[in-house]
Amino acid sequence: AGVLYIVATPIGNLDDLSTRAVKTLAMVDLIAAEDTRHSGRLLQHLGLHKPMMALHDHNERDQHSRILAELGAGRSVALISDAGTPLISDPGFILVREARVQGFQVSPIPGACALVAALSASGLPTDRFQFIGFLPAKGSGRRSVLESLQAETSTLVLYESPHRITNTIADVIAVMGAGRELVLGRELTKAFETFYCGTAEHVLAELQQDPHGSRGEFVVMIHGATPEPDSEQTTLETDRLLTILLTELP
Ligand code: SAM
Repeated sequence: AGVLYIVATPIGNLDDLSTRAVKTLAMVDLIAAEDTRHSGRLLQHLGLHKPMMALHDHNERDQHSRILAELGAGRSVALISDAGTPLISDPGFILVREARVQGFQVSPIPGACALVAALSASGLPTDRFQFIGFLPAKGSGRRSVLESLQAETSTLVLYESPHRITNTIADVIAVMGAGRELVLGRELTKAFETFYCGTAEHVLAELQQDPHGSRGEFVVMIHGATPEPDSEQTTLETDRLLTILLTELP
């Protein structure tokens, strides 16, 4: 049977396409792309001419079986999205899930991913983080998701579009407080790559002052909640009592 390759493509800088990704794209029989016109330009740039098909959120439910049939017939397929790693806030979940159910080999060709790139250079704790993807478009939905994450202690990572970025930060301030530490990664790997760091209030002000501020693509990273000093105090007190008890016990 054919192999399904999940191939990461650049998130801005074309040099971020790995040698292995190029070899894989050159070797497969078919390339399934989120947007065939957009990806067609990448293939043209690489000098590759390959059969392509569209696999996006609106047709994945119908089209994934066509790809499975190709794999069944012994042909290999590469899945790519417009930018970065497929399935990370991008199509492909139904296809990969079903390919695994049917026992096909699914192999990742790793590369750029905005979430990992942003986090790695953010200066925020990376030992534990939660990826939220895109928040709901409506203000009320957005705030209720943020409320549910308000007490989360791991770093939070979100994707956001340029026309909602200032509203989202305003909502972070409303729900998590103006003093919550925030890092924004904007236009990563591109000419106007910028990191905005500081309290949520400070980051919002900087963004509003920057004439290019709300243009481009953003990863929003929020420092996790600091555990209540109370609960820490309680743990210390419990430890102290336990130590006393242990020494006193026969
Ligand atoms: N699959 C992609 C990945 O691996 O990162 C993400 C696709 S998602 C539809 C697009 C979102 O990713 C953008 O709205 C933005 O939040 C983020 N993003 C993509 N490229 C970026 C870049 N160069 N700089 C900052 N954020 C980026």
